[in-house]
Amino acid sequence: MVTNVLEVNPERLWDSLERSAEIGRFRDVGLRRLALSAEDKQMRDLFVEWARTAGCSIEIDRLGNIFARRAGTDPSLPPVAIGSHLDTQICGGRYDGILGVLCGLEVVRTLNDKGLKTKRGIEVICWTNEEGARFNPPMMGSMAFAKVLTLESVLATTDDAGITVEQALDDIGYAGSAPVGREFDAYLELHIEQAPVLDREGCDIGIVVGGYKTQALRLTINGDTGHAGGTPMAMRRNSLVGAGYVIAAVNDVGLAYAVDEGRTTTTRIESFPNLAGTYAEQVKLTIDFRHIDAARFKAMRADVDTAIVAAAKKANVEIEVTEGWSWGSELFAPECIELLKSTAKELGLPYREMRSQAGHDAYAVATMAPTAMIFTPCFEGISHNVNEAIELARSLPGANLLLNAAVARANR
Ligand SMILES: [Zn+2]
Repeated sequence: MVTNVLEVNPERLWDSLERSAEIGRFRDVGLRRLALSAEDKQMRDLFVEWARTAGCSIEIDRLGNIFARRAGTDPSLPPVAIGSHLDTQICGGRYDGILGVLCGLEVVRTLNDKGLKTKRGIEVICWTNEEGARFNPPMMGSMAFAKVLTLESVLATTDDAGITVEQALDDIGYAGSAPVGREFDAYLELHIEQAPVLDREGCDIGIVVGGYKTQALRLTINGDTGHAGGTPMAMRRNSLVGAGYVIAAVNDVGLAYAVDEGRTTTTRIESFPNLAGTYAEQVKLTIDFRHIDAARFKAMRADVDTAIVAAAKKANVEIEVTEGWSWGSELFAPECIELLKSTAKELGLPYREMRSQAGHDAYAVATMAPTAMIFTPCFEGISHNVNEAIELARSLPGANLLLNAAVARANR
């Protein structure tokens, strides 16, 4: 028997998404709202204003993570946290991360509408720099919060212009004083899927039980530089050629594992001196690879390593490999997965279980609090692209699942 089912306000949720889509608008329909930029500040200010208007108290930690808290009736209990991010990629869409934060806010607003109190507080979180588009690694706000990274290393990270995270936080006034790290009763994150499974299956809710194991590698390819005309081909140690062989070979590894959803990508290239008329002395690449199965992941790593050695030999260059960020082999908390499933059943909402192929703040938070995620469909899975699109009607089931599950947990 369904009792006390709550529903978010669809128009208000959509209006909030539209307001957000005006801040950092890029190529008509997309967003460029890089972490700790002027646009990010503007969006953060708006979120804080909305949360305060909804009766929340605001705390900001040294990393700029924002915690908007709706008090519970028993302040001695840790809150149920709902979070995601408001920063975007350089060529990003309007929903990646944003939908999760604004659904969290909508949970608070809906409880206010109904005049409902919960035993535990509900805390809506905006994590700093989830995307990693300006400062790498991605998800640094949640990772430092969960002590997966040190606070010092995150604050000292620079963007391409040499500005540190610490400086950028000061510049926009978001270097807060709240301690880094706090207790949550549970953490729930709603996010667009960023892959086409839900959209193609016509299913509106993914209950995310864990991630794909993911590893980033940073490659430094060293050769020498010389004249593009005079230097005989056999004498060259052209780093960019080494990079070219690596990029193609890494992609081939991904194709070889595509049958069971393996993924490989070269995402970034930096070449020095990067000038016409001369060939490249040093190239840096960032690559990452992902697989759901631990044994297949290991096999992919071996194939990537073999490809790098072969590329170095063929181009007559040296390639140094260091490991970058990694995540995602863990499964989320059974108690939170069960909460989402039983709530979905109570609400009569069809769902499927799935693993996430993308990185999320939830992975780091999962090391310190019971955590699970809800996925909602996005058109054809298009994401990190200005054409990212959702249908409100297909997002509401996930939003209502988040609302009812958070309230159930908060009244526990
Ligand atoms: Zn995201």
